[in-house]
Amino acid sequence: MIELPTLPMNDEAASRGPILGIDLGTTNSLVAVYDAGGARILADAEGEISLPSIVSYPQDGAPVVGEAARERARLDPHRTVHSAKRLIGKGVQDLGRELATMPYSIVDAPGRSLAMIDLGERLLSPAEVSGQVLAELRRRAAAALKRPLEEVTQAVVTVPAYFDDAQRQATREAAKLAGLEIVRMVNEPTAAALAYGLDKEGAEHVIVYDLGGGTFDVSLLQLKDGVYRVLATAGDTYLGGDDFDRTLVLHAAREIQAKSGQDVLADPAARAALRMAAERTKIALSSAEEAELVFQDPAAGIAYRGKIDWRTFQEAIAPLIQRTLDCSAQVLADAGVAAEQINEVVLVGGSTRVPLVKAAVAQYFQRPARDELDPEQVVALGAAVQAGVLGGTVRDLLLLDVTPLSLGIETLGGAVSKLIARNTSIPAQAQEGFTTSVDGQTAVTLHVLQGERELAHDCRSLGQFVLRGIPPMPAGLPQIGVRFALDADGMLRVRAKEQRSGVSAEIEIEPKHGLSDEEVEKMLTDAWEHAEQDLTTRRVVDLRAQLGTVVAAIEKQRALFDELEAAQRERLVDALEEAGDAESIDRPETLKGILDGLEEASFPLAELLMHRVASEAVKDRKVSELLDSETAS
Ligand code: ADP
Ligand code: MG
Repeated sequence: MIELPTLPMNDEAASRGPILGIDLGTTNSLVAVYDAGGARILADAEGEISLPSIVSYPQDGAPVVGEAARERARLDPHRTVHSAKRLIGKGVQDLGRELATMPYSIVDAPGRSLAMIDLGERLLSPAEVSGQVLAELRRRAAAALKRPLEEVTQAVVTVPAYFDDAQRQATREAAKLAGLEIVRMVNEPTAAALAYGLDKEGAEHVIVYDLGGGTFDVSLLQLKDGVYRVLATAGDTYLGGDDFDRTLVLHAAREIQAKSGQDVLADPAARAALRMAAERTKIALSSAEEAELVFQDPAAGIAYRGKIDWRTFQEAIAPLIQRTLDCSAQVLADAGVAAEQINEVVLVGGSTRVPLVKAAVAQYFQRPARDELDPEQVVALGAAVQAGVLGGTVRDLLLLDVTPLSLGIETLGGAVSKLIARNTSIPAQAQEGFTTSVDGQTAVTLHVLQGERELAHDCRSLGQFVLRGIPPMPAGLPQIGVRFALDADGMLRVRAKEQRSGVSAEIEIEPKHGLSDEEVEKMLTDAWEHAEQDLTTRRVVDLRAQLGTVVAAIEKQRALFDELEAAQRERLVDALEEAGDAESIDRPETLKGILDGLEEASFPLAELLMHRVASEAVKDRKVSELLDSETAS
């Protein structure tokens, strides 16, 4: 397998304009660039740095993005889309809590497993929504850099480490809709480590603890020879600052109920307003020991003003923080790295500004957590550093990410041949040779799979394609080379080529449906749990397939059976009969015995066949040729 380092782009690319560094977040998104002064965030005209990843689609008029959309959420919840990142690259059947917690209705695209938001008059894809967010960042960058929009066309975009091929590809489509080409996708934790330049400090094991608005991710990176690898990741897709807000919402709602007998939570608009007030209070509590929560709803006759102190808030969020520490323990266990081996801990995400979070993380890892860079900006800054590398501004750095699940194709009998193993650094390429199993076969179906299990039906199907036009040949003769190329963004191209005839076919993996991090996790634990049993099943499948091939080859020569000696014939017929029972046998040792027995019993037949072929060859040749070859030897 060949690993390619990150190469600076050529001069032509550099002249094509700046490369943006973009953190496309679930809650907030940011854009940064790398220039003479290093990496810096680009603000909008009002000096706002983070853009809420929210798009509202008014019935009459153009989509509204960011803060303005966030305000429209109260008016028009069914047409205001937040958290599109939770849906991107997934089908409805991949969704769980999203279906219940999102105020808009979600359906599959017609005939495809691809979640779409139903606006009533039309279906809206999550990629379109993310596309609007990216377009807004692109406009912001062009204005800040004083460049015409047409010159701002390239970006490095970050995605969660656990994003699969479908999710990455859908993100790429979103960028395309925004007029941006993603020149590189970088995993979010990797970007954070890059922003700190931790490679230069020689830190070998780095924990990136990312607590955002609605999601929590913790990753363990390993730095080796100036190169970053994601060793393990864990997290919770429903844990973040929103849950902190919820504790305050519930607190206020209880007090309001006690005082006025009113249930503010019953009214969605009041609830949304209270949530925004609670978030402001939470943020204030990050830098003060006490803060007010002010909420009024004149229509309902509610005016609430309450004080919340540090201690009350801390007690409410402590169990949530404990959950993040449990995930951290999981990551260490998965990677087999002890807490003492961690050299650096990096804080990412707005919610790590909460003092108790910082303290808990530092205590858990027994070292101060890095927070010199703004935790909300650090991922975008790292994306800009990577953009600097690609643009040729930063040169002394390599970047490597890994593929989270193995990639392979289905082979005879439903087994899986893995071409690219899980945790392989990307970009990666691999090639393997295959052949046909039936005489005269002119087409083969290539079924591309992702997962760790040994059998195709236990893995995730990524797509299928057919290689046609193979000239008819006996089974086993065609030489089909299958090449997997996984590019630096995790995009997979599979190409199959029959070497004798030169016919070829290829696919680029289509976004069918994505996987949540829990599902990736489950696929991995399933594989470990079933490893032994899978290997046995795999052997059984392989042996049955081999038996099938041998039986078919022998059966073709039925006409010759009569020429065998009686004892030989009897032995062969018995062995064939035994082989006929293979489907009901699932002990590999027994199957192996049958296969060996059959091969031995068919030996006299093979000998007979050989003589026959040899004498026919002689018979067909002209005497002159025979003489020629004899004189030649
Ligand atoms: P995401 O990566 O999910 O897009 P962010 O990293 O932007 O999210 O984090 C957003 C969360 O950070 C929100 O819940 C917000 O309330 C919270 N947050 C931002 N600043 C602070 C602060 N000073 N104290 C506590 N929470 C904060
Ligand atoms: Mg984030």
